[in-house]
Amino acid sequence: MSSTNPLAIVTGASRGIGRAIAVALARAGHDIAGVARTVESASGPAEEIRAMGVRYEAYGVDVAQPGEIEAAVGAIEKAFERIDVLVNNAGITRDTLMLRMTPEDWNLVIQTNLTGAFHWIKPVSRIMMKARSGRIINISSVVGQHGNAGQANYSAAKAGLLGLTKAVARELAARGITCNAVCPGFVQTDMTGGLPEELKEKLLQNIPLKRLGTPEDIAGVVTFLASTEAGYITGQEIAVDGGLFI
Ligand code: NAP
Repeated sequence: MSSTNPLAIVTGASRGIGRAIAVALARAGHDIAGVARTVESASGPAEEIRAMGVRYEAYGVDVAQPGEIEAAVGAIEKAFERIDVLVNNAGITRDTLMLRMTPEDWNLVIQTNLTGAFHWIKPVSRIMMKARSGRIINISSVVGQHGNAGQANYSAAKAGLLGLTKAVARELAARGITCNAVCPGFVQTDMTGGLPEELKEKLLQNIPLKRLGTPEDIAGVVTFLASTEAGYITGQEIAVDGGLFI
């Protein structure tokens, strides 16, 4: 089935923030290549998105495995014949204090949250360079900007994504490709579902807007950055945190 819609790859599209991003981009007229660990999980939003009249294909890819990413980019290019937007959203936590953190906990989070983004950007940017246009959006975190006790691995990976974003923005700007980072605060998803109630209460006291974020709060900003209206924005880190770090 051929389509003239722009194509967006969204990693971590099965649930939480990534799913909301895939739905919002579809609503804005994009076809979606949705990535998660398995085809089954990546198929989560398929029905909802196809009902909007755009194309949705699910890809099972472990973003910690470079070979799987390379194969997926080839398959996506073959299926859609274009790649206009890449959203690096897949991510994990393995939280513990630094003194207790194992090298395995460190490596897995860096490999998944940071190195995975590099392995997507490299082949996708080649395709965007030929088209002389593209949008790359990396989902970092306020924790990458400010650090967080118990999250040395996650903070380092998310801070690394900010450096990657700025370097890529500088390298690809002349080819009409923008690269930006979105830094969510605390958003209600499976990732934060396990936080103790007392901690959530304490967090709320420090959030000027007095609520946790929703996946849709993040998806709205990503959709704007993917739009033509955002064509003069590149290399930025945009916090969406209810004012937590004003
Ligand atoms: P989530 O609900 O835990 O969902 C994580 C997503 O990432 C799922 O789609 C999961 O796929 C996918 N994923 C994880 N590891 C993967 C791997 N190795 N290969 C492929 N896919 C993988 O997380 P979320 O809260 O929506 O977070 C999304 C992004 O926002 C993450 O990068 C996170 O660090 C960032 N963020 C979240 C918050 C927050 O408060 N929630 C705050 C700041 C930043 P499966 O369903 O197949 O497992």
